Amino acid sequence: MNITTVAVIGAGTMGAGIAQVCAQTGWATRLFDAFPDGLERGMNRIDAFWDKGIARGKTTAEQKAEWSANLQPFNDMAQAVEGADMIIEAVPELPELKASIFAQLDELAPPHAILGTNTSSLSIADIAAATSRPERVIGMHFFNPVPIMKLLELVRHSSTSSATVAAAEAAGQAMGKTTILVKDVPGFATSRLGVVLGNEAIRMLADGVASAKDIDTAMVLGYRHPMGPLALSDLVGLDVRRDILLNLQASFGDDAYEPHPLLEKLVAEGSLGKKSGAGIYDWSSGEPEERHHLLDEKGHSTD
Ligand code: NAD
Repeated sequence: MNITTVAVIGAGTMGAGIAQVCAQTGWATRLFDAFPDGLERGMNRIDAFWDKGIARGKTTAEQKAEWSANLQPFNDMAQAVEGADMIIEAVPELPELKASIFAQLDELAPPHAILGTNTSSLSIADIAAATSRPERVIGMHFFNPVPIMKLLELVRHSSTSSATVAAAEAAGQAMGKTTILVKDVPGFATSRLGVVLGNEAIRMLADGVASAKDIDTAMVLGYRHPMGPLALSDLVGLDVRRDILLNLQASFGDDAYEPHPLLEKLVAEGSLGKKSGAGIYDWSSGEPEERHHLLDEKGHSTD
């Protein structure tokens, strides 16, 4: 399929990033948000990203002008998706909201359009069931920040057609991403591995195996991870990670995914990670600092 026009539904953190990369790819890109301030914030974020690129000498004003000309904001979904070859949804992670968006897309989108969802945890089959064309629905899981992160995790549910997979793979490559193809199982590939590693690192911290920094350094220097599993858990949000573990535990019926009590304790006390100022680490200085009082002198968690 030859893609020339793309619509992105939702102009938040992810939608704005996806629309930015689509515009940079050379596609006519329509960015839609149901809320005027959401749309404005998304457009401003893209503009600021491009301006920063010019200031750092990574791009030029001419290039920005070309990309900007490809990008148009919309406050009407019907207009945004008219004639679109690919539509990527990035609204909040609420099952009923995603289902209602896909039911509307089924009414409004051209018959040939690929319908992608950027959900990070919901079943693609459930979202596709809101349409009369599940074979055209595929998970397109981008990572934050979208213009920088190379991975695009494509998630195929049991009725996604091979033509849809091929079109999504080609679109990902055109966007400069490396695609992987994963079955529609809870946690896909990324979240499932990520949360298990993070939960095990928290267990090791609670058991006094090593300090948080030393556990993270083990993976950074020993396994060439760009960031340790504890710092990464704090960046993603401990509540988000706990919820994914609970979802995996319920879906697979396997206690291997049970959130460690120290993780539960931190979430319960509002230590959610960098966004709340502290999680496994103290982030008040902007950098991760060890929280020694998390553990008692024997190295066990203090509850
Ligand atoms: P966000 O809250 O930053 O943005 C959501 C946007 O959707 C907002 O601008 C909001 O105004 C808009 N919106 C709400 N209702 C809408 C509607 N009915 N129609 C159109 N727009 C509507 O959320 P986000 O972090 O960008 O996440 C979006 C999706 O991407 C979620 O499914 C999330 O799980 C997934 N995701 C997020 C990340 C991340 O790191 N933030 C990473 C991968 C995937």
